[in-house]
Amino acid sequence: MSDDAPIGRIAIVGGGTAGWMAAAALARVLGPHGPAITLVESEEIGTVGVGEATIPPIQAFTALLGIDEDDFVRATQGTFKLGIEFVDWLRPGHRYFHPFGVYGIDKGAIPFEAMWQRLRLAGEALPLEAYSICAAAARAGRFMRPQPGGTPLAHIGYAFHFDAALYARFLRGHAEAAGVRREEGRVVSVERGGPRDFIEAVVLADGRRIAADLFVDCSGFRGLLIEGAMGAGFEDWGHWLPNDRAVAVPTANAGPPTPFTRSTAHGAGWQWRIPLQHRTGNGLVYASRHLSDDEAVATLLGHLDGAPLADPRPLRFRTGRRDRFWIGNCVALGLAGGFLEPLESTSIHLIQAGIARLLEMLPTQAFEPADTRRYNRLMAAEFDSVRDFLILHFHATERRDTAYWRELADMAIPDTLAERLAIHARTGRVYREADELFTKTSWLAVMDGQGLVASGHDPLALGLPLDEIRARLGRIAAVTQAATGHMPEHADFIARHCSARR
Ligand code: FAD
Repeated sequence: MSDDAPIGRIAIVGGGTAGWMAAAALARVLGPHGPAITLVESEEIGTVGVGEATIPPIQAFTALLGIDEDDFVRATQGTFKLGIEFVDWLRPGHRYFHPFGVYGIDKGAIPFEAMWQRLRLAGEALPLEAYSICAAAARAGRFMRPQPGGTPLAHIGYAFHFDAALYARFLRGHAEAAGVRREEGRVVSVERGGPRDFIEAVVLADGRRIAADLFVDCSGFRGLLIEGAMGAGFEDWGHWLPNDRAVAVPTANAGPPTPFTRSTAHGAGWQWRIPLQHRTGNGLVYASRHLSDDEAVATLLGHLDGAPLADPRPLRFRTGRRDRFWIGNCVALGLAGGFLEPLESTSIHLIQAGIARLLEMLPTQAFEPADTRRYNRLMAAEFDSVRDFLILHFHATERRDTAYWRELADMAIPDTLAERLAIHARTGRVYREADELFTKTSWLAVMDGQGLVASGHDPLALGLPLDEIRARLGRIAAVTQAATGHMPEHADFIARHCSARR
């Protein structure tokens, strides 16, 4: 067989969110004449199954699969998400909103944040939320998809909350319909060999042997292939992001679902609240060095707004990423590739990003090493920039009320983040590096929300007289407020378009 021949068989090890996302996307894009795809999963081992909040790029994944969004929301008991509300993060009693979409609607040469910072130094700016349709709608409990035209309604950014088990089932249905073969069983060994020492097959407990040209490791934290067989190495980020455990509990809904995730800071961690149609997902993420498991359960159960529907479920994790995500003929996706705590709901996105890049660099039998190197470089950069964004939340805070927060405030941060903070400190400038996931809106929202105030403003803001800036931002706030009034209640939108009760 020539080196440039297409690969004929793909084996995906793992049937969690990562495995079924990969199976559904590869089968859909590569089509019935593409490689045969087999997915191996073990019911006995099970899945993590708590990834229930997403960010807007997931819309592209849904579109790639040819899925109707309303069908998808209905099938997964989903709701819509306009951003994240952060409660008690800067100091107890404080709250701010990290919205999707953009601030303002102005497409002028002077960026919004430069105008806002100049007006703020003049003591006249409104809080950032007044200029964001997503923040304003979230506060009002409203939702609609973006509308054509030049109003703030055109700038609604959104993502989904969904039931992770139903999402995996939904994707499995799509993958199997597209020809993916599922093998139930536990992988007990991995065979390597040949001139390139590639993985040749995985062997199941009952002796079944699954051979393939490309292996996608979606086996979760254990990284059965990428670490177990290929020894990829792991970069541990526990010194920057010390949370290493979580406890999760579903509750009955205590009211209509909010169109946002809530994150509430506690003495040694933080709590998520994710509203679904049929229940609310809750969990406490914490550092075991600072909080015992019993204390974590008590903290979580003491801060719920609905009746628990199950016993609290403990989870352990290690924060960091593989040194290499792709080695030889093995590519790791999902938790097998690395994990960053769920503060900004980025894990499912990182799976999606890995799948998109794998498709972009789909190997032939040659397994061109330059592709592998590029894949590893791009995925590492993506993980690193998400890491910096997460560290910002913990480090830039006024909280000093516990050893946990004091440690986080005092820690040395990555140079890349320090540079970003230094640039913002003088001029209020924010930026998005090429290919970076988080937008200027995200950086501005969290820097401001975490209490970072620049001493001056961007010289670009002098390009407009202060009167003109005042008038422009005043207009944006007024039309944002008015546009919110045209949006339906979130619960009504769901009832009309995608209720699971139908
Ligand atoms: P898993 O779910 O662990 O699946 C691993 C699969 O491999 C399973 O099917 C298992 O059976 C199989 N397997 C393992 N070993 C073997 C073997 N020997 N033989 C056969 N099969 C095997 N992400 C978000 O985007 N948003 C969130 O809000 C979010 N919240 C989270 C909260 C917490 C506390 C945690 C820990 C994670 C969260 N995540 C979130 C991350 C998200 O849950 C994961 O990214 C996602 O579930 C993907 O997991 P996975 O498929 O990689 O691994």
